[in-house]
Amino acid sequence: MQSISRRGFVISATAAAAAFGLDGPLEFLTPAFAQKADKGFVKFKVGDIEVIQMYDGVWEKAHDPGFVKNASLDDVKAALKAGGLTDAHVPITFTVTAIRTKGKLVLFDSGTGAQLAPTAGLITKNEVWKAAGIDPAKVDTIIITHFHGDHITGLMAKDTNAPIFPNATIYVPAAEYKFWTDPSVTAGAAKRIQAVFPTWKNIKQFEGDKDVVPGVKPINSNGHTPGHTSYLIGSGSRQLMVLGDVTNIVALNVRNPGWHLAFDANPTLAEENRRKIFDRVIADKVTVTGYHFGMPGAGKIKKDGKGYVFEPVKSA
Ligand SMILES: [Zn+2]
Repeated sequence: MQSISRRGFVISATAAAAAFGLDGPLEFLTPAFAQKADKGFVKFKVGDIEVIQMYDGVWEKAHDPGFVKNASLDDVKAALKAGGLTDAHVPITFTVTAIRTKGKLVLFDSGTGAQLAPTAGLITKNEVWKAAGIDPAKVDTIIITHFHGDHITGLMAKDTNAPIFPNATIYVPAAEYKFWTDPSVTAGAAKRIQAVFPTWKNIKQFEGDKDVVPGVKPINSNGHTPGHTSYLIGSGSRQLMVLGDVTNIVALNVRNPGWHLAFDANPTLAEENRRKIFDRVIADKVTVTGYHFGMPGAGKIKKDGKGYVFEPVKSA
């Protein structure tokens, strides 16, 4: 948690728990920023890119000794505590990023669609969309980082798999599509993906490093999944990188970039790309968003000893 400044605005622990599924108080610098966060979203600018962060909730993941392959359960609990979080479970939060750039609204990943955990799906349930000024029916561009269920389930209705964004073009990394649509893959959401995605005409695969849509450049960050991709928007000192799952929650995987979480398909490659991308965003002063960073879920990564720290954005 940040220290509390005189100008700071502190959300009560109860409100924070209700809005964010967190234990402690959250501080945002301006009341306006805090009020929006309380409704489940924040907006801020990076250069002329407007960034909208929407909170989808939390999965209170039960402890599992195999969760971090190269750290003990005690180490995991200590890291959660040191990060100001509960150590009763692993609080894995979900935050969806949207941007307005070059006159277009672009959504990155889709949220959990209220189908993965009873404490997640706030975007769907609480009309965070409307509060944030986004009409899901009018979203025309969605770009996906990878095909883990927490990132794509919001694309499809619960029982029918009907498209939630029928008018959008959904851009996906070709390597990710190829992997998950292989019938021999059965993990995670694979079977659902195989049943649904090939029937949708609005999915567009891309390869290479050319802009996916004007101004949005794909950055290879494979390892977490075979086609995991991050995205860089803007230029110079005004850049935003949508990390996706280059790293999991800050208290564990930003502090300990060498920790190999069970979610990483190729942990060695995931760590290599994590370190490479952290060093790049630090060198270039890039603002990042992390899908599992909680709210506001955007800010700067900084070097700190052997690990890194995350400094959240503080104002609109
Ligand atoms: Zn994820």
